[in-house]
Amino acid sequence: MERTLAIIKPDGVAAGLIGDIIKRIEYEGVKVAGMRLTQLDRRQAEGFYYVHRSKPFFNSLIDYMTSGPVVLMALQGNNIISHWRELMGATDPAKAGRGTIRGDMGTNIERNVVHGSDSNESAIFEINYFFKGTDIVT
Ligand code: UDP
Ligand code: MG
Repeated sequence: MERTLAIIKPDGVAAGLIGDIIKRIEYEGVKVAGMRLTQLDRRQAEGFYYVHRSKPFFNSLIDYMTSGPVVLMALQGNNIISHWRELMGATDPAKAGRGTIRGDMGTNIERNVVHGSDSNESAIFEINYFFKGTDIVT
């Protein structure tokens, strides 16, 4: 059993897509093991996206991620890291398949509605970044 960090980004929350996205997660039989609505400040968003700090899109990404509330979720299931990335679709919604969250709901390569960890190592870092052990149920 594996865990991953999922985020419904500010564009998803602002567009009223929380329910739709969680419905897709539950429909897949994936367990929500932790969940919180919060507003990220710049320091939190910069620390979370530290690996991207030298990318040209970094400052714009931080503006976007701090522009409104987000929903943080720890998802749990078999192969959930790759499973959730399949449900999200490609980073660029224009390249994401129909039926994926980004393909169906994303605006552009930045405003792409959801986040998902890309490896077990980053999943552990990202879940610990936002959740205390006692806020995760098993
Ligand atoms: N992003 C962007 N421009 C790019 C690539 C990425 O604005 O050219 C944003 C986008 O919101 C993306 C996030 O930065 O989800 C993190 O990028 P990453 O390459 O890790 O994509 P992901 O793992 O989210 O698919
Ligand atoms: Mg990534």
